[in-house]
Amino acid sequence: MERLALLGGTPAVNKQSDDSLFKWPIFTQEDEDAAMDVFRRNRFSGTEITEKFQEEFAKWQGREYAIAYCNGTMSLTAAMFAIGLGVGDEIICPTKTYWGSVSQAINFGASAVFCNINETLTMDPNDLERCITNKTKAIMVVHYFGYPCDMDPIMAIAKKHNLKVIEDLSHAQGGMYKGKKLGTFGDVAAMSLMSGKSFACGEMGMLVTDDRKLYERAMAFGHYERNNEKYITESDELKPYFHIALGGMKGRANQLCSAIGRVQLKYYDDRCKEIRKAMNYFWDITEDLPGIRAIRVDEKEGSNMAGWYIPHGLYVKEELNGLSVKRFCEALRAEGFVGAWDGGNFCLHTHPFFKTFDLFGMGMPTRIAFNERDVRLDDEHLKRSEEYECFSIPWFKHFDKEWIEIYAGALRKVVLNHEQLLESDLEKKQGGRWYGTENA
Ligand SMILES: *Cc1c(COP(=O)(O)O)cnc(C)c1O
Repeated sequence: MERLALLGGTPAVNKQSDDSLFKWPIFTQEDEDAAMDVFRRNRFSGTEITEKFQEEFAKWQGREYAIAYCNGTMSLTAAMFAIGLGVGDEIICPTKTYWGSVSQAINFGASAVFCNINETLTMDPNDLERCITNKTKAIMVVHYFGYPCDMDPIMAIAKKHNLKVIEDLSHAQGGMYKGKKLGTFGDVAAMSLMSGKSFACGEMGMLVTDDRKLYERAMAFGHYERNNEKYITESDELKPYFHIALGGMKGRANQLCSAIGRVQLKYYDDRCKEIRKAMNYFWDITEDLPGIRAIRVDEKEGSNMAGWYIPHGLYVKEELNGLSVKRFCEALRAEGFVGAWDGGNFCLHTHPFFKTFDLFGMGMPTRIAFNERDVRLDDEHLKRSEEYECFSIPWFKHFDKEWIEIYAGALRKVVLNHEQLLESDLEKKQGGRWYGTENA
């Protein structure tokens, strides 16, 4: 029996890999030159570079229009405004996601209604109709950790009930579902492009749509009615409001990020392809292990997970004598298995923000201030989503067979020797965090 490193044994990963194995984003001289050009010409503000990036991004995305924002949260807020989310409306969102997917709805007097996830950690289409009422305006689809949501049933339900669909593409730029690009299913898609994301260019967001009306509304929300000198607004509804951003908030991107984004876009698909090869290989050689399940799609159906943003596996503790995922990850990290964190995001319905927060000072939680019904708090029903446990695996940026096998070996070692950990697994706490990796 091999002694686990956490208990004094020798770590399975006992040499240093090349930095480039995990480094993201991949920046080259070309990115640096593009950034320095903005810097030297003092073009941080303005929109001429951003406009080029928008055009190129829209083309790459296969959508008519793209608008850049200062961050992903703002782009998703603009998407909500674009579809006309308003007082008393409900927007359905999977409970397991980053708060920036749906928290903004509160600013419109609208309520987030949470649906369950399934073993893919994305929206369970079978739980969608339960959430729909005559107040439901939209569905927020999140391709969580790069996994493409099951869009066929989701779109069918949206159509049947005449609901708008927003895709939160923050984890899955460039991913595919049955041969069609993610971000082209909903009425509008919006996403983060911040430096930790799959498509990463600093601190930025992007919104894409084919719908001229949604495009103009989204633009008016955070950008005035124009790209710099070029007025784009044609709609009579918006014309009286020229010169003031309708959200009362400015949401423009800075051009340093746009310049880097333009360079990143040129290489993004090829880099994702290599990541997919590496990540699939990692699962191919570990999937036989008990207690863990790959979260990945069958690429033969024309689906893929783009750049595998923060790849995770499902953790099935019943197969490992009830060992907590927290202890399991501690043991993995001790083996030198980088980035083994438990849980993903906590389920949003468990946060007081969605239960008691009174944004408008009305003396009552905003969630019931404009809406008598309280579907979003069905804690009992949503418990199922809390029960899926997961852990992150190394996010390889290159297909380096030798190193992937070393990390796979570390995982194998911990799984096969997990019994050593049972005695010291005192806390048995559930895994998860609100954001990042260490604020649980
Ligand atoms: C990061 C993220 C956002 C918010 O993007 P920011 O750029 O951080 O504002 C929204 N949704 C999801 C799913 C995210 O991961």
